[in-house]
Amino acid sequence: MEAQSRRKGAARCTDCGRALAVWVSSDGIRPIGSTDGCPCGSTSFRVFS
Ligand SMILES: [Zn+2]
Repeated sequence: MEAQSRRKGAARCTDCGRALAVWVSSDGIRPIGSTDGCPCGSTSFRVFS
């Protein structure tokens, strides 16, 4: 089990605007604690910079 380069970040759902804690990796953005994306059903996020 190799650790991929990922970091914790904060992102906002582009659909409902909810702010979520996320893992940012080369795979993409995944909400921490949820593999299904935002509770609203969206899987599109914009990372805070
Ligand atoms: Zn949402």
